[in-house]
Amino acid sequence: HPPFDVHAVRRDFPILKERVNGYPLAWLDNAATTQKPQAVIDRIAEFYKRENSNIHRAAHELAARATDAYEGARDIVGRFLNASSSSEVVFVRGATEAINLVAKSWGKQYIGEGDEIVISWLEHHANIVPWQQLCSETGAVLRVMPVDECGQVILSEYQKLLSHRTKLVSFTQVSNALGTITPAQEIIEMAHRVGAKVLLDGAQSVSHIKVDVQALGCDWFVFSGHKIFGPTGIGALYGKADVLAATQPWQGGGNMIEDVTFEKTIYQPAPAKFEAGTGNIADAVGLGAALEYLNRLGIENVARYEHELLEYGMHALRSIPGVRLIGTAAEKTSVMSFVLAGFSTVEVGNALNDAGIAVRAGHHCAQPILRRFGLEATVRPSLAFYNTYEEIDRLASVVKRLQCSAKSFSV
Ligand code: PMP
Repeated sequence: HPPFDVHAVRRDFPILKERVNGYPLAWLDNAATTQKPQAVIDRIAEFYKRENSNIHRAAHELAARATDAYEGARDIVGRFLNASSSSEVVFVRGATEAINLVAKSWGKQYIGEGDEIVISWLEHHANIVPWQQLCSETGAVLRVMPVDECGQVILSEYQKLLSHRTKLVSFTQVSNALGTITPAQEIIEMAHRVGAKVLLDGAQSVSHIKVDVQALGCDWFVFSGHKIFGPTGIGALYGKADVLAATQPWQGGGNMIEDVTFEKTIYQPAPAKFEAGTGNIADAVGLGAALEYLNRLGIENVARYEHELLEYGMHALRSIPGVRLIGTAAEKTSVMSFVLAGFSTVEVGNALNDAGIAVRAGHHCAQPILRRFGLEATVRPSLAFYNTYEEIDRLASVVKRLQCSAKSFSV
């Protein structure tokens, strides 16, 4: 393989030329959101300059252009995930809305009292709260697969939670707080053996590892556009055709109907059935452009480069006295969560910001997993393919300097 030309790809991202506090911006907050290549920015501008129209309803040239662009983006998402058909792709606002859609449509329809929903200890609040709400409305029970000291799920403990009562297993493919890559295929197969459906949260995985929903076998897969170099306010829900067909819509309105009388409404088939009202057309088109950009780089090339960068970063942080790394599973991507003895995470985050380095310091919307490690917050640098070894060196040197200043205070 040719070496990954990180300096060439950096030129595709205008924001990476920004300076912060006198330093070149080092964007290490990719788990929160990613930056956008010029190709995405241009594609959205092009849509508004030449194609803007509402879709489907009007029989004129721009409606046709907008519809082609929107449905073209759906095809790109379907191919990116290896869905068997683009009609298995529903556009939503993001991963959060996708999970809520499943909870409030399929969940309301199929989950009842005494049924069990299994999630993992690693989940983002977006994959906890909707199921808690569903449980309190239906009398279903939420169960949680535990994780070990490295931050990996314990399959033998998960196995014990599964029974004929398990109706749904919903879990993340990559932890946003720790970076753990869960053994998704095994977890899905084990769930299917007891007849449960499976939702896979891909918010943190799609931008880092190759995803193939047919190979994984999940019933639903969700992700957000903004975490994969696309715009905010757009994301996708993949659902198996038969599962979508057997699910009632959650919202009603225009676009999603075949025929309406005051007595009765006949719905469109999926995906339109789940897309009531005017969608986020321009940003769906922008998401399509982001995935095409990533396709040009090659997700395997990206994954290989990021893996080397992560190893380098984990080693650099591990060798600083006082640093405790949280999340040390062998299967891991992008995220390097840590705490520094003697400093709050906010202090570390501020010191990094002073040096032009953007990281997240906080609970990362995943409080249960941090509490599993006795913490309320961590500092979380998270990588994308446009990050460099030099940025990691800058990160490590600021943390090292802080640590030394603590030592000189204590003597
Ligand atoms: N799941 C995971 C694992 C996430 O990291 C996030 C975003 N931090 C979400 C779900 C929710 O994504 P969004 O806020 O874009 O809806």
